[in-house]
Amino acid sequence: MSERQVVTRIAPSPTGSMHIGTARTALFNWLYARRMGGKYLLRIEDTDRERSTEAAVKVILDGLTWLGLEPDEAPVFQFSRADRHREVALELLARGAAYRDYMTPDELAEERERARAEGRVVRTPWRDANGGPMDPDRPHVVRLRAPQSGETRIDDQVKGEVVFRNVDLDDLILLRTDGTPTYNLAVVVDDHDMGVTHVIRGDDHLTNAARQTHIYQAMGWDTPVWAHLPMIHGPDGKKLSKRHGAQAVSEFDDMGYLPEALRNYLAKLGWGHGDDEIFSDAQARAWFDIRDVVGAPARLDWDKLNHLNNHYIRLAEPERLADLVEAVLKSRDWPLHDGDREILVRTLPLVREGARTTLELADAVVFALKRRPLELPDKVRGQLTEETRSRLGRLAAWIEEAEWTPAALEASIRSFAEAEGVGIGKFGPALRGVLSGGSPAPDLAGALVSIGRDESLARIRDALPNEALGAIRL
Ligand code: GLU
Repeated sequence: MSERQVVTRIAPSPTGSMHIGTARTALFNWLYARRMGGKYLLRIEDTDRERSTEAAVKVILDGLTWLGLEPDEAPVFQFSRADRHREVALELLARGAAYRDYMTPDELAEERERARAEGRVVRTPWRDANGGPMDPDRPHVVRLRAPQSGETRIDDQVKGEVVFRNVDLDDLILLRTDGTPTYNLAVVVDDHDMGVTHVIRGDDHLTNAARQTHIYQAMGWDTPVWAHLPMIHGPDGKKLSKRHGAQAVSEFDDMGYLPEALRNYLAKLGWGHGDDEIFSDAQARAWFDIRDVVGAPARLDWDKLNHLNNHYIRLAEPERLADLVEAVLKSRDWPLHDGDREILVRTLPLVREGARTTLELADAVVFALKRRPLELPDKVRGQLTEETRSRLGRLAAWIEEAEWTPAALEASIRSFAEAEGVGIGKFGPALRGVLSGGSPAPDLAGALVSIGRDESLARIRDALPNEALGAIRL
């Protein structure tokens, strides 16, 4: 390769959702461009007018934004370039590298039958009809005059050298009967015009690489470097499908995964840096090489993704986690009140240790957000014997004087237990139940800090018989 600046691109078709495979393709293109100091572009392949709604395009743009993989330039919309694609087809005609094929649909159907019976690809008599009628008004398609003998070699950065026998490739259609350009023509013209040097995409396009090479050659253009990525399979090794759960990027968002966790995870799907499980974007950018991608299908592994997500949840700023958890709670119609934000910010760092997703984080904070009086489950009620209630009354008075920090409260609870001559186990579970209403909660001191002084004391008071109330000054 010459010293051209590396230009990569992703070229998704708007289908209404953004597949996780597309996200990984985007990531690898982005990483490679970053590694090489190049450019990473986006082309929206919106030639299917029915599917390419504004909403479907937005899904892709939103997905890339969420993943932090926005392109370096404004997207190119393929449909808007149809005239340019036609122009290239006409130039190929003028060069004799393409020809008009006037086979009627019936004739084509017959030829297909014959080709199938003879075990060969479709051929048309118009390829060699030199000097025959070339009437542009008679219905026809424009086909590429592709080589019929020899081989086309794809020197693929991931798959190695892949060889296609040209006899197995038919003369691909460039313009349909209605004059619209076909997919392979549009891709080549766009990639060429966008200056794309590296085409990194799913290996379902490997055969297209051979066909597209013929167009490049016919135009005398440089072919890009090819890199075809293996598919992503489900944990069972089968092609990823609905059965395996989430497939769309938005679903991973809805399930409470952080974009940086998904990025780290996707980078590991087919590529890796030794045994490193966790790496930052900066490390991935410094290490990534398309040649290190493995050719075999990658398997989705939910345990690994959960592990990474937990890692990034533990690293995240509490304010950001609070935003995410607020969104989860809103989606659950949980009523948020003034002051809940502060509760979230101080509670999240105390409960995030084991959380695999932001949905689990939301479950882990509800104890602190509940409104009084809390509904106590039977189990907690059962723990509230008269003895325990009066002890909780004394405890409330005792800790009220403490500084409201985890360390101070822990010490205060310990000294209270000593003063009472009992173990913490004697009243701890009941206290926890009264504070949390039976929801998951961190240790006692953590729960008290999360809930806050006044609210904690009030929750304890709510659970006490009237005669014990005197012990609590509120
Ligand atoms: N539009 C194609 C797809 O969504 C990608 C084409 C390409 O990357 O060359 O599968």
